[in-house]
Amino acid sequence: MHMKKPKKNLFWGNNPKHLVIALLVVFGSIALLYKLTELSRNIHVISYSTFLDKIEQNQVRRIKVADQDVEGVLKDGTHFETVVGNNPGDWDKLRRHGVEFSVSSSANPLNFWYIFSFFCLVIMLIALWYFIRQSRSAGGGGGSNIFTMGKSRARMFLPSTIKENFDSVAGAAEAKEELADVIDFLKNPQKYKRLGAKITRGILLIGEPGNGKTLLARAVAGEVNCPFFSISGSDFIEVFVGVGAARVRDLFVQARKHAPCIIFIDEIDAVGRHRGSGLGGGHDEREQTLNQLLTEMDGFRTSSTPVIVIAATNRPDVLDKALLRPGRFDRRVHVPFPDLKSREEILAVHTKDVKISSNVDLNKIARGTPGFSGADLANLINEAAIIASKNSEKQVTIKDFEEARDKILLGKEVKSKMLTEEDKQMIAYHEAGHALVRLLLPEDSDPLHKISIIPRGRSLGVTHSMPEREKYITTKEEMEASIMAALGGRASEELVFNKLTTGAYSDFKVATSIARDMICNYGMSSELGQVIYIQGQANQDYSQDTAERIDKEVQNLIQQSYTKALGLLKKYRGKLDMLANALIEKETLYAGEIYKLLDIEPRVEHKFS
Ligand code: ADP
Ligand code: ZN
Repeated sequence: MHMKKPKKNLFWGNNPKHLVIALLVVFGSIALLYKLTELSRNIHVISYSTFLDKIEQNQVRRIKVADQDVEGVLKDGTHFETVVGNNPGDWDKLRRHGVEFSVSSSANPLNFWYIFSFFCLVIMLIALWYFIRQSRSAGGGGGSNIFTMGKSRARMFLPSTIKENFDSVAGAAEAKEELADVIDFLKNPQKYKRLGAKITRGILLIGEPGNGKTLLARAVAGEVNCPFFSISGSDFIEVFVGVGAARVRDLFVQARKHAPCIIFIDEIDAVGRHRGSGLGGGHDEREQTLNQLLTEMDGFRTSSTPVIVIAATNRPDVLDKALLRPGRFDRRVHVPFPDLKSREEILAVHTKDVKISSNVDLNKIARGTPGFSGADLANLINEAAIIASKNSEKQVTIKDFEEARDKILLGKEVKSKMLTEEDKQMIAYHEAGHALVRLLLPEDSDPLHKISIIPRGRSLGVTHSMPEREKYITTKEEMEASIMAALGGRASEELVFNKLTTGAYSDFKVATSIARDMICNYGMSSELGQVIYIQGQANQDYSQDTAERIDKEVQNLIQQSYTKALGLLKKYRGKLDMLANALIEKETLYAGEIYKLLDIEPRVEHKFS
């Protein structure tokens, strides 16, 4: 554990050899300095004989004598120094030549050189002490010191160094809403303790890089005004077994000491991959680390120490299920690519301190940047400002933005995320298809939450429904409706473009697995009857012939559902077009807007309020 301080001593690193060199340099510079002051004071060192000559020639104004050292001034103002023989004081001679003189008993002990050496010694001692202390407490910062391996590598940020708050995060309304509770808890842990409420201690932020997961976590710390510990999942892992676990322990010890506080674990998938998935050695270490993390988080359940763990990942699918259990990371918050409105807001936040020409319309820029992440947008503004500066313009103009955008799009990554108009249309119709089928079938009981054509993870577009209650009983009609809704995307593509895309792959997987469940597990097939067929290679308890019949039945069910969905969309083509066009325009639509647009009466459970 170390605070945010330089990992190495600024001057000599952690190597004693460097210390010697540093000292030599220091002494050298002091000697040089001394010489320079001597020169600047214009002191001439002259010989004894010259000194005597000058006296003879009546050129000396006054001298100071200390033992054999003589310091004096000539009549022309020149300062000089000399060392005289044992009998300096031919005092009469001095008087004859009108030299003022004074005598002190010995060399002035407080001369420049003496003071300097003394200071040097002091500085050296302080440096030595500091060096020894430093090397002893180098902690995780120094790196591979065997005694400090188990120290966590987290960086701690004190509240005064955290500039972010919720105002720095544009868009991301849902994530902010989810995090509001956490802020309240950290601010008033007593309030919750009093009523015995158990608040979520682990929050998993899910989203592609650059969309503000770190920013959100820091903003929470900024809002609460509490310390922020930041570490990456990969920082826990070392080649030595047990080190990661020790680091986790150390991190939580530190965090509890500084509570209320936030621990942020970036790329948690590095430690949180489901256990037993490692190849060969090394996975023992990861499992131990993961187990320690789970243990620490379980500890929170029984304590009232206000520590919140926020983890970030873009691969929630590979995480060990144990991480997602209640009391651990039981709250999942999506941090998606920003939609049109969010992009405009992000641009607004980041242009606050940039001189922008009045001809720049942020909404237009937002429209031209679908698929850009928050970081891409921040980068866009920075690039535009750089281009404007290079051209010595007074303000950043729309042309600078266009040039910056083209430059960024040359970087392949954004380009592949960037949607063309054609993509947008295709995705809009696909998602509108899912949503419309869902809305038109009274049996489908998952209330629609929102539709978006902004890519999320590796899938394009999303149609979200939020099951508001855990369903214990699902009817055959509901399951059929779910299959139809899943196939609605592809049906819409076929209806409108008469083209098939690969975008529906996961839809088919969903539809097929529901169909299989219906037939094999719930006895909902008229053909095969009320029997449970255990699936899976190892314990398959039916014959090859039955297997073929099951496959056929699944296929039939899917085919029928697809035809029904297609028919439905054909019948309501007008609504489909309306919905798709609205999506192309706004990129994200919420349930309320959709009902209004399509003039559909929300079913009871779809109503907000
Ligand atoms: P992640 O942790 O998801 O990879 P970051 O939080 O590191 O992303 O975001 C990188 C940068 O992008 C931020 O520092 C910020 O400048 C910008 N950014 C991302 N999302 C937003 C947002 N919603 N509002 C404002 N800025 C954002
Ligand atoms: Zn789909």
